[in-house]
Amino acid sequence: MRVGIGYDIHRLEEGRDLILGGVKIPYKLGLAGHSDADVLLHAICDALLGALALGDIGHHFPNTDMQYKNISSLILLEKVNSLIHDKGFITNNVDAVVIAEEPKIAPFITEMRANIAKTLGIDIDSVSIKATTAEKLGSIGQKKGISAEAIVSVKSIVR
Ligand code: ZN
Repeated sequence: MRVGIGYDIHRLEEGRDLILGGVKIPYKLGLAGHSDADVLLHAICDALLGALALGDIGHHFPNTDMQYKNISSLILLEKVNSLIHDKGFITNNVDAVVIAEEPKIAPFITEMRANIAKTLGIDIDSVSIKATTAEKLGSIGQKKGISAEAIVSVKSIVR
């Protein structure tokens, strides 16, 4: 068993869809980024890569590479999952937290968990997503961005 940690933050801006955990959430602003800027999935990707010391998401999917422009981060998670499998590991569990002042995340958490579990090929009960606010403090509290933190454990595939 190995564990990894991931963190990500993206700015909120007009004219972008807000995608979190592969779910399009109705909101006046969206996250800025080269891909769909799914901050939650990016944190989970980094945690999985970290568990096997495989570097980070920016190394594997450079934001200068046009093939990743506006790409769904579920595809990036799928690619990371393949890297994990190639190393002989499978995700054991995921625990993550989204920090956002707005909008309310809770109604979408079950769908996010289902997306992540399906992409990683694990049970939904092995994927935990939590949401909190920044209590109006700092840049996230002022609704300038959304961040996410994730921790994962991976286990060796028994052949
Ligand atoms: Zn990101």
